[in-house]
Amino acid sequence: MSVDQTLADLVAIDSVSSRSNTEIISYLEQRCRSLGLLTQRYVHVDDRGLEKINLVACTSKTDQIELVLVGHTDTVPYDPNWKEALTLTGKDGKLFGRGACDTKAFIAAALTAVESIDIKKLAKPLALVFTSDEEIGCLGAKRLADAKPFAVKYAIVGEPTSLQPRRAGKGYCLAHVTVRGREAHSAYPQIGASAIFRAARLIERIEAIAEDLKNDLHQDFDPPFTTINIGLINGGSAKNIIPGECRFTLEWRTIPNQKADYVLDRVRAAITDLQRDDPDFECEIDADRADDSFETRVDSELVKFLEQASDQSSGTVAFGTEAPSMIALGAEAVVFGPGDIRVAHRTGEFVPINELSDCTRILKQAVERFCA
Ligand SMILES: [Zn+2]
Repeated sequence: MSVDQTLADLVAIDSVSSRSNTEIISYLEQRCRSLGLLTQRYVHVDDRGLEKINLVACTSKTDQIELVLVGHTDTVPYDPNWKEALTLTGKDGKLFGRGACDTKAFIAAALTAVESIDIKKLAKPLALVFTSDEEIGCLGAKRLADAKPFAVKYAIVGEPTSLQPRRAGKGYCLAHVTVRGREAHSAYPQIGASAIFRAARLIERIEAIAEDLKNDLHQDFDPPFTTINIGLINGGSAKNIIPGECRFTLEWRTIPNQKADYVLDRVRAAITDLQRDDPDFECEIDADRADDSFETRVDSELVKFLEQASDQSSGTVAFGTEAPSMIALGAEAVVFGPGDIRVAHRTGEFVPINELSDCTRILKQAVERFCA
């Protein structure tokens, strides 16, 4: 089957993250089995009772996989007015449809590449890994990394990078901070304690931490340091009440070599410091998300191969990916795939046909280079 036809089949299956991915997994499972791959489902039932499946299709029964090609099966939602969201449509050298770019094009390329190889002749194990729930926090890949069913040496993680290998990415972390005070009539501030004044003092410290983080540089990123954002703040109950509570979100994106909780440790130290002047200073931090950064060395065989095959030097990735989960399985991981992330997640997302066929060719070469 041609790569375009495979992509059309994949786009036709609605696999928005809010649905179970059973249908697309069944399709991929059948395709992999007919290739002679051994398939294994890793089933998770989510909070809403929906089955979310990771599928691993391997050339042999092993717990040491040489190369994995990873593609997430879920997509972001689509506008109901986009009538052709599930019908792959070609125009001007581009293929349009929900998931056409992110990341069904990579999956179609990976399947087509493996179909064009005699897998019986491969000396080292190759696996196709199809994950769930990437668009809602890389959850499927994280579950696979936690289960550790096998170790991986090299991983190509499919994402739209316009076929530029991306060997590093910032981490993504989020926490909810609640600062407490004591409510009182605003005419008598001495009998209350303002949670908002307290939060303001803490936020000033956090801004100073953000400034200080600019001294720790990783030049492959733009900006080349860990960034902090306080995106939401909320507090108080009326104009004439000393506020009893103030809540804000703390979001930070870490450069590699800095642990995900590094910023949180610095914020906690700032709180301890504030408590010296204000022993009643009460603050709770609810850590919500801590996705690690990742970095694969520039001299990794996989990086060098993809740079040479794509004729592009490697770069970094600004959005969250499944690469850290593959690294947790022992892999040297690179994010790579056809299409441009800037057209993903929007009505009319597309993949250029030439990138789709180039990706198929490069993935075939990768299998021959690493598994032969
Ligand atoms: Zn994606």
